[in-house]
Amino acid sequence: MRRYDFIVIGIGGMGGAALYHLAQRGVRVLGLERFSIGHDRGSSHGGTRIIRRAYFEHPAYVPLLIRAYHLWQELEAQTGQVLLHRCGLLVCGPADGAVVAGVRRSAREHGIVVEELTPEEAGSRFPGFSVSKELTVLLEPEAGFLRVEACVRAHVMQALARGAELHEGERVHRVTADGTGVVIETDNGRYSAAGAVICGGPYSGTLLAELGLPLQVRRKLMFWYGVTEPAYRLERGCPTFAFDTPNGFFYGFPVHGPEGLKVAEHTGGAEVADPDMLDRSLRPGDEEPVRAFLVRHLPQAAQAPLQAHEACMYTMTPDEHFVIDRHPQHPQIVYAAGFSGHGFKFASVIGEVLADLAASGRTSHPIAFLSAARLLGPSSGR
Ligand SMILES: Cc1cc2nc3c(=O)[nH]c(=O)nc-3n(C[C@H](O)[C@H](O)[C@H](O)COP(=O)(O)OP(=O)(O)OC[C@H]3O[C@@H](n4cnc5c(N)ncnc54)[C@H](O)[C@@H]3O)c2cc1C
Repeated sequence: MRRYDFIVIGIGGMGGAALYHLAQRGVRVLGLERFSIGHDRGSSHGGTRIIRRAYFEHPAYVPLLIRAYHLWQELEAQTGQVLLHRCGLLVCGPADGAVVAGVRRSAREHGIVVEELTPEEAGSRFPGFSVSKELTVLLEPEAGFLRVEACVRAHVMQALARGAELHEGERVHRVTADGTGVVIETDNGRYSAAGAVICGGPYSGTLLAELGLPLQVRRKLMFWYGVTEPAYRLERGCPTFAFDTPNGFFYGFPVHGPEGLKVAEHTGGAEVADPDMLDRSLRPGDEEPVRAFLVRHLPQAAQAPLQAHEACMYTMTPDEHFVIDRHPQHPQIVYAAGFSGHGFKFASVIGEVLADLAASGRTSHPIAFLSAARLLGPSSGR
């Protein structure tokens, strides 16, 4: 049985970053991934992910975001690639809605630059958008988007360059604690290590079954439109955008390179009983809410042909906050799950947090609010 210091299970967004941070510490680390790096069967595909700091979900995330930005920049410097486009984020919604109020709160508490525009100013500065008079408009200039698959690959390549081992196409079936270490059984064999990091994304329900975490997987679709209007192009200053509307929360990305205008709905999505059986086809009614959003708020894109769609999965917790913790009985097993459709921007710092927890059992990052005890009750803790 081959022996490692640490084994990372699931090399997607979070696991790739954990592999990198562990390898950087000079330990003997193995990554096990059931598919290939950058695949489209999990939650880290589809070209782009929004990154922002004025976090409406809760100001407690902001210190993690500040570190995440720093680490993405470091990864860009190491790889010589542009991973993060700071094209800004336009947020529109009712003044008293959770999104606008939450952005303002995080910006105020953490001194993040957010400009307020009138709907008229927004329309003249960003001519692709139609913002009705009753909406509040906020612009976070330092926000933007990450190239999601490129980020995953960059972490993995940098991990390999630092001596990590990677097995793709190898599925983990069982993780057992063995004294103070772990034994991991896969399609191909058995491995032992001092500790394991589990980052199963939408497959976490199976990998972490014994913990009984209340995770629900949702089917989410992304759409690309063949827009010719220059107002939606990145190089013409089009930002990423997010609209909190009475019909749902919609967001999207400017046209860049050969990719069309990408738009999706953050709210909604049907429950997926088995992530291996996700329906990736376009069902009747799937596109309607996004098309209706375009008609209302991006009128010059409303008639554009649908170029492509992709299916992805959110792994939801009941309060939509992440779960990052150690196994209650076997602290040599650490895990990160339940990213609830907003986790990717954090991957760089989550990798660092997981490496800290695996290597020393603690981290200086403020993650207490993400512990499992809030979902399972205090008796579930160590
Ligand atoms: C449509 C969509 C839009 C999103 N938009 C944003 C956004 O704009 N901004 C943002 O920050 N976040 C966004 N998110 C959320 C973000 O993408 C996810 O939170 C993040 O990618 C989750 O990463 P992960 O590592 O947990 O999961 P994944 O990247 O899916 O990684 C899990 C990995 O584990 C592997 N695995 C599972 N089981 C096993 C096993 N038994 N053996 C071996 N390997 C296994 C899987 O194959 C997979 O590679 C979005 C998500 C979706 C679906």
